[in-house]
Amino acid sequence: MTQHTENAEPSDAAGRRAAPPIICYEVDTLPSVDMAFYKKARSDMSMTEELTVPPRDARTFAVPAGHIFRIVSIEGPQVGDLNLWNASDLSERFFSGKTRALHATHVTTGDRLWSNLPNLRPMATIVHDTLDWYGWDDDGAGVHDVIGTRCDPYTNMLLRNAAYDNCCHSNLSRALAAAKGISPAQAETHIHDVLNVFMCTGFTKDTHQYFMKASPVRPGDFIEFFAEIDLLCALSTCPGGDCGSSHSDDTTPCFPLGVEICRPTDEALSGWHPAERNSYDGNHGVAVA
Ligand SMILES: [Zn+2]
Repeated sequence: MTQHTENAEPSDAAGRRAAPPIICYEVDTLPSVDMAFYKKARSDMSMTEELTVPPRDARTFAVPAGHIFRIVSIEGPQVGDLNLWNASDLSERFFSGKTRALHATHVTTGDRLWSNLPNLRPMATIVHDTLDWYGWDDDGAGVHDVIGTRCDPYTNMLLRNAAYDNCCHSNLSRALAAAKGISPAQAETHIHDVLNVFMCTGFTKDTHQYFMKASPVRPGDFIEFFAEIDLLCALSTCPGGDCGSSHSDDTTPCFPLGVEICRPTDEALSGWHPAERNSYDGNHGVAVA
């Protein structure tokens, strides 16, 4: 918040500030995450598809429910911006804000990526993360954030008065357009706030502003997701590279990212079913007076 303080503190300011913080959502009542199931599923998999996302570009890929997809650092430290949709209905998509509210500002093994309202079901579960050792550093930063949005040409124009069209938003728009046979302008309305894969971010302690720092990711690191429903995914290799210096230019070193889609054995998946669409109809059943 920009400080434009005009009012003196009230005499009971300290008392008001001393109210205890309460966790907003009681996640103990979330459907349980059966890590033993996921561990078994990932212990014996066969790769069904492999692709590479070139630097400053994006690609889409489909992941059937029950498959696991892995995003891999392959040549150098690189951040990826990930979008997820229901493969048969683009109106159901990843809900970064609610995922953040339910889990944390940064996600790792055992956390889920939830879909937007009214669906609100797990689209994917993180089942392995080689950067889980990072935790929280002295700056308060963590890895794989759901607080950033995605770099985009409009904010860049607003702040720097410069045209740059290989931002993640643009890359994701073009990739979705190619996959769906629609124009980038039509596709960009489906682009949403991302999971910032491998990105190391936090909020400054003094002004609480969003900051980034060089990602700790190194070639060989990966994060794995179990698809809880049929997914269409899009991954952009951010023009910020490891996001340790700048954004939205063609000079920062950038690297490709690998994507591997794997199928667990039938035996590992026996008894498992894709997440159901939320059957609760919210406020639609309430009569308006
Ligand atoms: Zn970006």
